[in-house]
Amino acid sequence: MSGAVLVVGAGFAGAVSARELADAGHAVEVIDRRPHVAGNAFDGPDAHGVLIHHYGPHIFHTNSDRIFAWLSRFTRWRPYEHRVLASVSGRLVPVPINRTTINRLYDLNLDGEGVARHLERVRVPHPDPPDSESLLLSTIGQDLCDRLFRGYSRKQWGIDLRQLDARVAGRIPVRTDDDDRYFTDRHQAMPADGYAALFARILDHPRIRVRLGVEFDPTRDGRGRRHVVYTGPVDAYFGHRFGQLPYRSLRFETEHHPGHALVQPVATINHPNEHAYTRVTEFKHMTGQQCAGTTLVREYPAAEGPPYYPVPTAASAALHRRYQDLVDATPGVSFVGRLAEYRYYNMDQVVAAALRTAARIADRLAGASPA
Ligand code: FAD
Repeated sequence: MSGAVLVVGAGFAGAVSARELADAGHAVEVIDRRPHVAGNAFDGPDAHGVLIHHYGPHIFHTNSDRIFAWLSRFTRWRPYEHRVLASVSGRLVPVPINRTTINRLYDLNLDGEGVARHLERVRVPHPDPPDSESLLLSTIGQDLCDRLFRGYSRKQWGIDLRQLDARVAGRIPVRTDDDDRYFTDRHQAMPADGYAALFARILDHPRIRVRLGVEFDPTRDGRGRRHVVYTGPVDAYFGHRFGQLPYRSLRFETEHHPGHALVQPVATINHPNEHAYTRVTEFKHMTGQQCAGTTLVREYPAAEGPPYYPVPTAASAALHRRYQDLVDATPGVSFVGRLAEYRYYNMDQVVAAALRTAARIADRLAGASPA
C-alpha cells in the first residue's frame, strides 16, 4: 500500500490512530509482529474455555467521558470495579491501604479519624521525598512500607524501593475510610465481548488493512509512506544507538481448577513477601464469564523477555532523553504509546495520546505537502 499511512503496532496506540486516520479519509496499513491485534490487552479463551488476558490483567478505567464515549462506539461494557487483597502475615488485607487494612493487620478497631491519627504517629516525615522509599515512609511509616510494598517492589522491579522514582509510590493512594476499590475513576468497566473483539471492531474499516506477523524494519519500511505512526520500542527504532532502554518483563503461569466456579474472594491477590510471583489473578471475577472451572494466572517478574514496564529510575529517564532528541529530529514519523514514548501509560492515556497524534497527522496531511 504505497502512499498509505503505515501504523506499526496494533495495540491501543496503533489501532486508535489507524481508525482516526481512516475516518479522516486516509488509507492506512497496520502491521504487527504478533499474530494477533490488541497488543498487550489481547484476550481469548485458554485451553479450558476460560477467557483470560494473555499479557496480564487489564481493567479499563478512566475519568475521561470523551475517551469512554470514543471506545463505546466499538463495544458494550460490563460494569466492573477491581478489588485487590494482599496476603500479609497469613491475613488478606485490602490494597490500597484503607481502614480495614490497618485494623486487620494490627488487630485494632479504629474509625477513620483513628486511622489518620495512627498514620500521623507512624509516618517518617520528609519535606521532599526523592524516591519511592522516602515517599512511602513519609505517608505510611516503616512497618506498612516493609510488609506491603518493599518485597513487592523488589520482585516487580528487581531493585530496591530507594532506587525507584518517587512517582511510582506516588500513584498508590492511602485511605482512612472503607473504600476497597482499586480504582476510583468515574468509568470502570470491561469490554462486554473482550478486548480482542473491541479491537476487531476498531480496525474494521474499508480504508484499513491489517497485516499480522509482520516485522517493521525502520531502515526500509517507512519509504514511500505519507506518514509512519510507530508504537514499538523507541530504542529499537534507532538501532539501540545509545544502548538498550531497561524494561521489566513478566512470565505468566496458568493453573486451571476444573471443580470450582471461583477460588479467590477477589480478582487479584498480591503476594508481597512470599513466593517468586507478585500476584495471582482469577479472570472470571473481571469478565463475569459463566462456565465450569476457573483459571488463575500467576505473574513472575523477569529481567529478560518481552518489554512490559519501562523501569522508572533516574538513569533510564536520562537515557530516554537522548532517544527523545532523535525522535524530535525525525520528521514524517510519530512516536506514540507505551513503548515509543517509554512511559507507563494506562489504556485510557494511550487512547488519549493516539487521538491527539492522529489529529495532528490529519491536519498536517490535509495541509497538502507530504508530512
Ligand atoms: P502495546 O499494547 O504493547 O502495543 C504495541 C504493539 O506494537 C505490540 O502488539 C507489538 O507487537 C507491536 N510492535 C512493536 N514493535 C514492533 C515492530 N518492530 N514490528 C511490528 N510490530 C511491533 N492499563 C490499564 O489501563 N489498566 C490495566 O489494568 C492495565 N494492566 C496492565 C497489566 C500489565 C501486566 C501491563 C504490562 C500493562 C497494563 N496496562 C494496563 C497498560 C496497558 O497494557 C497499556 O496502556 C497499553 O497496552 C499500551 O498500548 P500500546 O499500543 O502503547 O502498546
